[in-house]
Amino acid sequence: MKRGAFRVAMSSRANKLGTTPPLVYPMNTPISALLDRKGPVVHSIAPTLSVFDAVAEMNRHRIGAILIVDGERLVGIFTERDVLRRVVGVSLDPRRALVADVMTSNVITIAPESTIEETTTIFTEKRCRHLPVVDHGRLLGLISIGDITRWMGDAHRAEAEHLKNYITGGFPS
Ligand code: AMP
Repeated sequence: MKRGAFRVAMSSRANKLGTTPPLVYPMNTPISALLDRKGPVVHSIAPTLSVFDAVAEMNRHRIGAILIVDGERLVGIFTERDVLRRVVGVSLDPRRALVADVMTSNVITIAPESTIEETTTIFTEKRCRHLPVVDHGRLLGLISIGDITRWMGDAHRAEAEHLKNYITGGFPS
């Protein structure tokens, strides 16, 4: 194919259809769509547990963050970063210290209708990698930066496939 032929092929098809194909995974997708795929499991523990038990629970589930709940109420978040800074970094005894003493109490949360774009912005601006999803005080799930990265990967693959079909005449089906 000559230089520029790809662009010509695309633009002539775009002229014929008068539109470009819509994105399969738009950035305004609500976070609830990711939760539906991920499932409703949220790992949480009580604030009265020791740091040792909190870490054991995180290791058991192979997760990097755990939510701290007092009854139904979300009272904190404890992540592997806290283990580094607030436990190991200051030589705290994990069997004696309570998770309540080393968790972050001012938890930033998102609503299920928050978009992927808004969530990504919060991760960047607040420099954290975990966001509980809360709907009118009810804890629905947890979205990690890894969930967003996976979603982006799927989105890029789907978009590439979509555009390939569009260029080769497979769009709209
Ligand atoms: P992370 O990058 O998620 O491991 O967290 C980095 C720091 O931010 C740790 O001190 C966490 O306790 C805290 N943190 C993580 N997620 C949140 C959140 N949603 N709200 C408030 N603090 C958080």
